[in-house]
Amino acid sequence: MDRTKLDELIRTFFTCDRRKLSQIFDELLSTMEAEESLPPGSLMSQNYETAQANPEIHTLPGNLKDARDAIFPFFWGTDGWNSKLHVENVRGPANYASLIGTIACLLKNPNLCVDTYSQRSNELEVKAITALANLVFYHTDSPWGVFTMGGTVSNLYGGKLGIEKVLPGAMQTGVREHRLAGIVSEAAHYSNATLAGWLGMGTENLHAVPTDRALAIRLDLLAEKLDALYAEQIRVAFIIATFGGTDAFGIDDITAIRQLIEEKARARNMPVPHLHVDAAVGWSLCFLDEYNLQENPFQLEEDTLPLVAAAQKHCQGFRHADSVTIDFHKMGWGHYPASAFIVNRRADLKHLFRSVHDMPYFCEAEYRRDPALFTLECSRAAIGPYSVMASLNGLGLIGCRMLVANALEMAHLLKKRLGQLDYCKVLNAETIGTSVVWWVLPKGRNAAAIFDRLEAGQLEPEEFQRYTAEVRRLFDKRQAALDPAQDARLSFTNNMGYRPHGLELPAWKAVFFNPKTDAAVIERVIYSIEEMI
Ligand SMILES: *Cc1c(COP(=O)(O)O)cnc(C)c1O
Repeated sequence: MDRTKLDELIRTFFTCDRRKLSQIFDELLSTMEAEESLPPGSLMSQNYETAQANPEIHTLPGNLKDARDAIFPFFWGTDGWNSKLHVENVRGPANYASLIGTIACLLKNPNLCVDTYSQRSNELEVKAITALANLVFYHTDSPWGVFTMGGTVSNLYGGKLGIEKVLPGAMQTGVREHRLAGIVSEAAHYSNATLAGWLGMGTENLHAVPTDRALAIRLDLLAEKLDALYAEQIRVAFIIATFGGTDAFGIDDITAIRQLIEEKARARNMPVPHLHVDAAVGWSLCFLDEYNLQENPFQLEEDTLPLVAAAQKHCQGFRHADSVTIDFHKMGWGHYPASAFIVNRRADLKHLFRSVHDMPYFCEAEYRRDPALFTLECSRAAIGPYSVMASLNGLGLIGCRMLVANALEMAHLLKKRLGQLDYCKVLNAETIGTSVVWWVLPKGRNAAAIFDRLEAGQLEPEEFQRYTAEVRRLFDKRQAALDPAQDARLSFTNNMGYRPHGLELPAWKAVFFNPKTDAAVIERVIYSIEEMI
């Protein structure tokens, strides 16, 4: 070995040179500032043409600036979603307290697999999980959980727990000939189909129950579905309730679902399905739990207060959940990946332990500290705990509460303004939450009357097609005409979740995750709709 060259390599890449690192960090931060002065989405176009043909690797060892140069165009060509004009989807700008946490995490690069690798970072995970559990479950004695790769995987943990509960030992013996089913609502996230497929249950055995107009699972139809499945001796492994749907922010009635599944399972002598709540988006409504509606310390608008009251009521349902998915990288304004899977009762995790024979070994103290005994993953990033604890303690409970209340207020403002236009119809008027889905029809049409006829089953198929085509055409028209420096970037969904008579309703969509998105942005959305049509 050429020791001189090796030493040079070690000095450059494995020794902390604060001056060189700070200089590059500083340069990267300058680009963030530059980006803030530009309209969203205008940074640099993609070049997929040769991305696969020309994946170059330098031959000779370089330095840290080579590392910077290798990624810089891609860094610059990536939108950080900091602009207040971004309202397309359930993605927000990451907050800078989270950045502090995340950078600290990356500097130590812990692996949460076992605590001998990561010491106090595993302790931080314990703290972060408990903090989130206390927020969500409110009164809970023994919550437990882990951070995962994302909401999809957190939901997968919930589904797997359900399978193990109704078919003990499936981890070892497989699902075999047993007939299993899972239930969600028609407004649930597609990740539930993903997990049904990946867990060997099969997507065809995931049953989607229609919702009411508020995008909440219909309890009468859920009862029918349970009866039908049990009548065929099918074991219902899990119900995954939605708490804040991705498109329209539907919230299922967790308390009522709990009552129903207990009652139906008991009547049929079947094991009670696991009740997991997919609160990837909606969990942060829990920040509103203790808002004093009488004193109204944030001076919220009069018509925001009922929304907060409704949120407080919805959140009480969490106490009846067995487990929950929380995406901190969504309405926690944290960095990816920061998703948590949390059980209400720690004892439930025993279903996931690696081997039943080894059970005596996993006394409480050990499995608390060694998530590797039950996690799907082996190596596990610690960005979640660092992002969560830095954010929560930077922003504080009150800060988070302000952000959530503001998001509700902005969504409500858009709903109210759209409600004043005859040719527009808000499709999720009966949900609270951060998202708005709506129709824009040509001026002169009465959108509400058309919607009433649709719900009454009076629209001919050709009429339905004509109206939905108009909704799409007008969206495209706005897209083509918008001023990227002034007009918010909206998105379009082909199916907002509520399906009267089985019809999938397309809609314009806006989500208010960015605290900088203000009333002026909303007025401009209304202006663009009025001017364009
Ligand atoms: C985003 C989302 C998911 C999936 O979460 P990822 O972190 O993107 O994997 C699941 N459920 C809902 C309701 C979501 O909005």
